[in-house]
Amino acid sequence: MSTYKAPLNDMRFVLYDVLGAEQEFARLGQTDATRDVLDAVFDEAARFTETVLAPLNETGDRIGCRFDKDTGAVTTPPGFKQAYAQFVEGGWTGLVSPVEFGGQGLPYTAGVPLKEMIDAANLAWGNFPLLSHGATDALLHHGEDWQREVFLKPLVDGTWTGTMCLTEPHCGTDLGLLKTRATPNGDGTHSITGTKIFITAGEHDMTDNIVHLVLAKLPDAPAGSKGISLFIVPKFKVARDGTQGDANAVRCGSIEHKMGIHGSATCVLNFDGAQGYLIGQPNKGLMAMFTMMNTARLGVGVQGLGLSDRAWQNALRYSRERLQGRSLSGVKFPDKPADPIIVQPDVRRMLLTCKALVEGGRAMSYHAGLQVDVSEHAPTQEEREQADALVGFLTPIVKACLTEWGIECTYQALQCFGGHGYIAEHGMEQLARDARITTLYEGTTGIQALDLLGRKIMQLQGAGLKIFLGMITQFCDAQSGNEGVAEFIGPLREKTAQWQQLTLQVGQRAKANPEEVGAASYDYLMYSGYVALAYWWARSAAAAAASRHSDAFKQAKLETARFYFARILPRTLAHAAAVGSAASTLTALDEAAFDA
Ligand SMILES: Cc1cc2nc3c(=O)[nH]c(=O)nc-3n(C[C@H](O)[C@H](O)[C@H](O)COP(=O)(O)OP(=O)(O)OC[C@H]3O[C@@H](n4cnc5c(N)ncnc54)[C@H](O)[C@@H]3O)c2cc1C
Repeated sequence: MSTYKAPLNDMRFVLYDVLGAEQEFARLGQTDATRDVLDAVFDEAARFTETVLAPLNETGDRIGCRFDKDTGAVTTPPGFKQAYAQFVEGGWTGLVSPVEFGGQGLPYTAGVPLKEMIDAANLAWGNFPLLSHGATDALLHHGEDWQREVFLKPLVDGTWTGTMCLTEPHCGTDLGLLKTRATPNGDGTHSITGTKIFITAGEHDMTDNIVHLVLAKLPDAPAGSKGISLFIVPKFKVARDGTQGDANAVRCGSIEHKMGIHGSATCVLNFDGAQGYLIGQPNKGLMAMFTMMNTARLGVGVQGLGLSDRAWQNALRYSRERLQGRSLSGVKFPDKPADPIIVQPDVRRMLLTCKALVEGGRAMSYHAGLQVDVSEHAPTQEEREQADALVGFLTPIVKACLTEWGIECTYQALQCFGGHGYIAEHGMEQLARDARITTLYEGTTGIQALDLLGRKIMQLQGAGLKIFLGMITQFCDAQSGNEGVAEFIGPLREKTAQWQQLTLQVGQRAKANPEEVGAASYDYLMYSGYVALAYWWARSAAAAAASRHSDAFKQAKLETARFYFARILPRTLAHAAAVGSAASTLTALDEAAFDA
């Protein structure tokens, strides 16, 4: 079985030394978020995730969720329900929710390390409370007063959980195709009819009620994505005064048998005239969903990070213990029958790849989280808008890169175990299987790439990119006299200039041929991720040198930054070349000739 120890030291380094989060919270008026308070929260979160959630990870995978076709009930794996009760009792569900609805009102950023710990400890379990945040966000921003009164408190205190019901059998990415109908009943309610598939936590035994947020079309809705509305459809009907009534006409038809996250219920939900309430304006449901999208996507990015971290922790331990062969430069452990495999450069390549992607990815995602707080609490509107643009720009990069790296890290970590990684005993194959979903749900990597290049760069004139490039330039200027990180500044400046050139190049080509955006998008996205990570590694090396951390810690940051710049950043060369090549290299082959 794989083990998990929350990386509190590195989490604190990123928050306090790299990002200066404590001072930032004070500046934003989030005065309750002092270092003492946050440290206590993280200590307790580490205890909960290490001792309650992590031990349930393997049984959750092996036993999975069970479906009773006679009653439509879903039973979660042993221990999941009790762990959720403890989570609720500990007040974790409302950690970053508004105080007026029973939350603790801590900054969004404080929830990111908590989420990383949950996902590393038990990704499948973490999916049950995850979706409640999306529902909470949608209600906060788009719900009517009575809807907030009635639905928010139980979602925030964890008495109920939430879902997001978008996908239908024939419609995943293209929501304009959806068929679920909403018919007005004339009394302020609607009857919802249709089938949703792949609904995470759509049915379970952890809470008395489940609040489904459902996308559906009104009778006179315009065709396509402009005609989609959002509805609240509780599993048990809820009146406007908050009283809970009879079972609603929504039933789980089955749960999916899938590659990983067996402990997470992935449900087919059949709505058969279920009572629902419209949230926000008719036909503006996608806009309301977009409110939830940024934070939900950042959240899935953090899932990739959590799994990568757990996998690499186990690979490191194993590589120190596993004795095979001798070091190429002579025996290192003469008292042992063989040297541990960590002396081998190739094993170090795998371990350092994971370390660089995990620790750099942590800085990248926590920074994006901090920008969510800035976008909500900065003193001026200008700063709030800038932060909002930055969050929009960073979200597809964090979501896609951290999950793609999640697949890479879980596979590299498994590889460190040799054949022992492939068998179930060490739990490494579970991590690799669990990681696979993260590049698919909440928008595939391909869709994140289109969001970045098509929307955030082309449509919004690269507002977020300009702000981010400005941050990098400012850092490079500020570090110009710092010998300790001088080796990183030149390459970083070069990549920043190349990033701008590539953006202009694609923009020019896209004017003549719109296919250029789709053709360049994936490589542009990955290029962006690797340059962003270079920035975070240079900043981490500088922050470590200036911190009160141990010499070993400082050396680890510096050497990992060197490894990153020498061996991972060059991946940008291939991505830049692909971005630079014409769309015709993808479109020229006739569709019928693919298998000629
Ligand atoms: C375990 C699990 C849990 C899930 N949880 C939920 C949930 O809680 N709620 C919910 O609503 N859904 C959920 N989903 C659905 C998930 O979000 C979708 O599977 C995902 O959005 C992709 O849709 P699809 O599977 O229909 O793929 P498709 O949309 O058919 O895409 C297939 C492939 O084509 C590519 N593609 C499609 N359109 C384009 C385009 N325009 N440009 C470029 N490439 C394109 C995609 O990138 C992908 O590679 C879940 C899915 C799974 C497997």
